[in-house]
Amino acid sequence: LTAAGFVSLRRRLAASTPELPYRIDEAGAARSIPATESADPVIRATTAWLMARDGGLAGIAAPLQEQRIDDEHWHLGAAPWRDPRGLDWLIVVTVPESDFGSWVMQGAERTMVASVVALFVAAFACLFVAAFVTRRLQLLEDAARQIADGDLAVRVQPSGFREFNRLASSFNRMAGKLSDAFARLERGQADLEHLVEERTAALRVANDELERLAREDGLTGLANRRHFDQHLREEWLRARRAHETLGVILCDVDHFKAYNDRYGHGPGDEALQQVAGALARNCRRAGDLAARYGGEEFALVLPGVDLEGAMQIAESIREQIRELGITHEATALGCLTMSFGVACQSPEASYATPDQIMKSADRALYEAKAAGRDRARAAEVPRAAV
Ligand code: GH3
Ligand code: MG
Ligand code: MG
Repeated sequence: LTAAGFVSLRRRLAASTPELPYRIDEAGAARSIPATESADPVIRATTAWLMARDGGLAGIAAPLQEQRIDDEHWHLGAAPWRDPRGLDWLIVVTVPESDFGSWVMQGAERTMVASVVALFVAAFACLFVAAFVTRRLQLLEDAARQIADGDLAVRVQPSGFREFNRLASSFNRMAGKLSDAFARLERGQADLEHLVEERTAALRVANDELERLAREDGLTGLANRRHFDQHLREEWLRARRAHETLGVILCDVDHFKAYNDRYGHGPGDEALQQVAGALARNCRRAGDLAARYGGEEFALVLPGVDLEGAMQIAESIREQIRELGITHEATALGCLTMSFGVACQSPEASYATPDQIMKSADRALYEAKAAGRDRARAAEVPRAAV
């Protein structure tokens, strides 16, 4: 029985309250206290309500469940029961709504607290998962930035959840391919640079060769006329600036037509080469230059050499040519000789142009030829300095 239950056998036999269902009267006899007279107002009111409803407790034949409306809300259950001895029992239970209302409220409160706790747990879990995922995405972003900055060796360590690991391994594969591609590109670039270097070196060699060919005479290896003219102009200007002397020798093989006619063009070429060798050996100082001026005619530029010195050099070369001992039977001497015209630019004898100094040397050469060949003649010193 609940706190407000009682059992009634027409008369009340027992109740859940501490009240006795009987009382002893003055005569000492036990007298049953009917439910209608119970000291408990709940039992009293419930009995009154049931009697009002069914016209007496005996009228309740079937179990009932009612909501009794009073000052307070009550829930009431009554169950009639006949025991094996044929006694009719009525078991009544009444509970104030506030009893289980508070229980319901308590349940609702618990549910609410549980919901709030669940909400917090869910929110925390969401935040945790979001932070976890964000951290991993951050790792990927950092790695991508490092790759963009050129560090192609960077890789993302698989950690955490499966999706991230798949993403990390795809990222690493991509980074690996990128790294390979760059390595191939760099190798290709290095090969290309190497090739360009090789080609550049070859081009430089070819260029030097071209330049040399552009300056050199093909037969004798001496400077050609173009190079000689250029060199003479430079040295002539320098000599004028520095008020220094500049010797020039123009020389020509004697009776070379006859040599060719007698010995042939091939030996003629060889003779020219020997002559060229002798001339080159006399270019000892920086700025000295021997050139093939044209045909069997040669020229020398001798910076810092005056007329006297240039004449000595011309004489020396003349002797060296004779000493070559190139047989030339058509000449009185029986060997190849040369004639020399010498001119000199100096502060006292200045020529207006490099061309003029060559013309002067050419005149002196003509004189040497006219005087019988195999000799050197100095040019007349120009009268007026320019
Ligand atoms: P001279 O004493 O007056 O100088 O008489 P020469 O015969 O030397 O002068 P000329 O100008 O009459 O003849 C020059 C000759 O030089 C003609 C030409 O065949 C020859 N000659 C010019 N260049 C070369 C060359 O490169 N090789 C050969 N073998 N002969 C050349
Ligand atoms: Mg000649
Ligand atoms: Mg000549």
